[in-house]
Amino acid sequence: MAELINCLACNNEIATTANACPKCGAANEWIHPSIQRFLEDIKAAKISWNKSGQLSDLLYNWNRYSIAGTAETKKESWLPRWIRIPGNLLFGLFFLFDVIPSLWAVSYSDVIPGIIFLMFLFIVLVAMNWSSSKKLNFSIDFKSKPPTWKSDDEEAWEGLREYFIANSKEEQG
Ligand SMILES: [Zn+2]
Repeated sequence: MAELINCLACNNEIATTANACPKCGAANEWIHPSIQRFLEDIKAAKISWNKSGQLSDLLYNWNRYSIAGTAETKKESWLPRWIRIPGNLLFGLFFLFDVIPSLWAVSYSDVIPGIIFLMFLFIVLVAMNWSSSKKLNFSIDFKSKPPTWKSDDEEAWEGLREYFIANSKEEQG
């Protein structure tokens, strides 16, 4: 059941979930206190939401009772380091001691296959060093008690989860 608050315009009792006051029609601007506090704290940079240090670019949107957001992980290579680093080294040696010396001996009939081969090498080099980031999501809904927290990576979002859980405990106690 929705809690009741007083309309800021006419003081009539209205539900927190109402869009507007049924008596005077003023828009209901109530936001759950935990969300209100989050919006203030994040503006003042008072939240250590990225506790694990693996996230960046937090984006979020909210309504009266819930807030959801997304952040990016660090760019990570699909190849493990122990393959990528020796791979790049071998690639460099091959280029320096085989490909470059052979450029001097190129004849006209070798130009097209040569260009295709260089393009192939370029693609291999890009593929070997390809890295990408992931988007991670969280959401918390204060309509239920205790609030419903969801995330697709509990370790990455630990700082934010702790922040919201600590806040909602404070309000109950
Ligand atoms: Zn009113």
